[in-house]
Amino acid sequence: MASVVGLSARYANFLIHPLPPGPGICQICHGMAKPGYPTCWPCQQAAEVLGNGVADAVVPISLALKREQYANELWRYKNTHGPQQQYFRMGLAAVLWRFLAAHEPCIATHCAVPGFDTVTIVPSTSGREGHPLHTMVAGMVGPTRDRYRDLLTPTEHAQALGRTASLARYTSSALWGETVLLVDDTWTTGAHAQSATAALKAAGAGCVAVVVLGRHLNSEYGDTATHVEHARLRRFSWDVCSLRNWRHG
Ligand SMILES: [Zn+2]
Ligand SMILES: [Zn+2]
Repeated sequence: MASVVGLSARYANFLIHPLPPGPGICQICHGMAKPGYPTCWPCQQAAEVLGNGVADAVVPISLALKREQYANELWRYKNTHGPQQQYFRMGLAAVLWRFLAAHEPCIATHCAVPGFDTVTIVPSTSGREGHPLHTMVAGMVGPTRDRYRDLLTPTEHAQALGRTASLARYTSSALWGETVLLVDDTWTTGAHAQSATAALKAAGAGCVAVVVLGRHLNSEYGDTATHVEHARLRRFSWDVCSLRNWRHG
């Protein structure tokens, strides 16, 4: 755990806690919602299309702002090679490790389950073998590797679906009520993670909670810059709990 603390330490300088749900904040993904609406448009669409198939909890570890450090790292950990790639994978694996060590019990409490039996990832639509997220969650991250299972497979329709939430995007291995922690790197519209959740539930999963490393936002879009300014007022701390809205320890 010492190296996890060391490797994740620098992230406290630039990770940003998503704003807690409230007016103007999406209750599901913690992105922006139009005034008077409980969720953002993509989350509302996902709920319309997938019904009860949507996630029981969506937990972004941090905002990831286009062209800033964290969004950059979330791109580079899968698109660079050699020592640089290894450096970013180690760092992001430590972020996930440290976050889950502190807050996975809070996610379970939020979902009213004793814990998560199984951990899996949203597979990339391109179907690339040996995806770095797989390497991290199935191998590097202590709290997830022993529970990891390859459950989801993109269907032949996945590419063509673009950014639409759909039950036709993935298939899942059969489950018998297991609770699932579903991990993804970036949440933009949530269409991939919510479609994956719906496939898990259709296959028999119990509660499904989604943890994403970064909630992607573009500060140049609409009022996003103001939203981000608000979020930055709260200094990042590993102890701040986005689910119980208090500090641990
Ligand atoms: Zn949303
Ligand atoms: Zn917590």
